[in-house]
Amino acid sequence: MRIVVLAGGIGGARFLRGLLAAAPEAEITVIGNTGDDIHLFGLKVCPDLDTVMYTLGGGIHEEQGWGRADETFTVKEELAAYGVGPEWFGLGDRDFATHIVRTQMLAAGYPLSAVTEALCARWKPGVRLIPMSDDRIETHVLVETDGERKAVHFQEYWVRLRAAVPAHAVVPVGAEAAKPAPGVLEAIGAADVIVFPPSNPVVSIGTILAVPGVREAIAEAGVPVVGLSPIVGDAPVRGMADKVLAAVGVEATAAAVAAHYGSGLLDGWLVDTVDAGAVAEVEAAGIRCRAVPLLMTDLDATTRMAHEALALAKEVRA
Ligand code: GDP
Ligand code: CA
Repeated sequence: MRIVVLAGGIGGARFLRGLLAAAPEAEITVIGNTGDDIHLFGLKVCPDLDTVMYTLGGGIHEEQGWGRADETFTVKEELAAYGVGPEWFGLGDRDFATHIVRTQMLAAGYPLSAVTEALCARWKPGVRLIPMSDDRIETHVLVETDGERKAVHFQEYWVRLRAAVPAHAVVPVGAEAAKPAPGVLEAIGAADVIVFPPSNPVVSIGTILAVPGVREAIAEAGVPVVGLSPIVGDAPVRGMADKVLAAVGVEATAAAVAAHYGSGLLDGWLVDTVDAGAVAEVEAAGIRCRAVPLLMTDLDATTRMAHEALALAKEVRA
């Protein structure tokens, strides 16, 4: 079985652990979000690709959900001693090595997809991880601070401002002129199932879908497309997805996120058991829906979620 997963960071990465356990024989291709990418200290940082790579490769800081385990921050402290920031973005010493290798390879002319493959040769994530595009795409958020509207990089909005200021729009800058990375459309075209894990619908999956050709390829793939809600009990399980949903005019409910993807894209949708009341509404919108436990509390629970997603895919195919 060939499975394609569109993934952001934490939600996508943790779900993939369960999927690998649920379908050990499957060939899994992960299309990773690169809209969060940022240049810091002259280095190219790809937070979502790295979260997937470290999580599946065993290098992740488990409690934090991003960055490396057993991390130290000497380089960052030394940079700060020179007055060089930003101080609000956490980059540890081990993590720095990844970004140095990536930046060096990019400067030598390798595309991001090739660089990602090279980094994964070390981490062996057990999936094929492809960035959504080799072209530069940066998510910007139109925010309001001190009565003034301005666009800031997604990381500045998310990490420095903690998504605590009003946001009016989310724009994947560069997307319209970008091309899917080599292998992206091929993987979608060859898939037996396409899965939207519980990743952020706007700034993770939404950004991947904004790469020209990706949304169309998924809609036309003719295979089941199933998703798992990142919203449980009308709130994100973790993080501030409700804020970016509001910025694009979508309510933070499991049913509203399903409607946002729409029946043209999504065939099946899993909501948590606390949102069982939303099942009828989602089905009325033409999307097959089931209520099952959706908290990735441990690998067993996550594996059950992956089994449920694959079962739903089978059901909608029939
Ligand atoms: P990010 O790039 O690190 O923000 O990660 P993603 O975009 O992959 O995922 C973020 C989303 O994962 C958030 O909106 C969370 O609500 C969701 N999430 C995190 N843990 C869980 C969980 O245990 N269950 C569900 N259903 N969603 C989760
Ligand atoms: Ca992210």
